[in-house]
Amino acid sequence: MRAALPPTARLLAVSKGHPAASIHALARLGQRAFGESRLQEALPKQELLADQELEWHFIGRLQSNKVRGVVRAFTVIHSVDSLALAERVSRIADEESVCPDVFLQVKLRPDPNKGGFAPNELLEAWSDLGRLPAMRIVGLMTMAPIDCQPAERSALFSECRVLADQLGLPECSMGMSGDWREAVAAGGTWLRLGSVLFGPRPEASRVIG
Ligand SMILES: *Cc1c(COP(=O)(O)O)cnc(C)c1O
Repeated sequence: MRAALPPTARLLAVSKGHPAASIHALARLGQRAFGESRLQEALPKQELLADQELEWHFIGRLQSNKVRGVVRAFTVIHSVDSLALAERVSRIADEESVCPDVFLQVKLRPDPNKGGFAPNELLEAWSDLGRLPAMRIVGLMTMAPIDCQPAERSALFSECRVLADQLGLPECSMGMSGDWREAVAAGGTWLRLGSVLFGPRPEASRVIG
């Protein structure tokens, strides 16, 4: 699959629901960036893999009481979905003397199951977001609603790319196992792939945060 990706598209291996041994197997092939969506699940795996020099990305819904744990354990956060959460991440990152790379999650279609900035909310919050000292905003993250048709997904991913460009942000975290081709074609730079790499997850961890 690597050969099929343009150089601007990087692969985030989403290892939620899979054991440290599976991560290790992929790390041996040269994969460094891994995505997890739950802090409690990630911490023991990170400990087991501490000698691997991996790059850990948090991709799940980030509850405010988990922010400290997440900024300690992850260098990249894909799921900052409100100004209040961004402020909290920056304040706690500052206290912890870290500066995570952050993706702002945007919601381009109504979807009661997902968080995210609507585009107008993001534009309104933009100057406040830009003043937060202890995070580096690198891009936008988005997910297509479950029932979205391929053509509609392509449109949605293109909108995300346009919005990122408008804000001068280089990265777009978009595309999962079922729609990474559309995401790459639209200018996605981080593909978050789980089941296509690791196989199906146990039912309990399939819920997308
Ligand atoms: C689980 C998850 C993925 C990966 O999903 P697959 O369909 O298995 O590739 C990507 N992004 C987020 C936010 C996820 O929660």
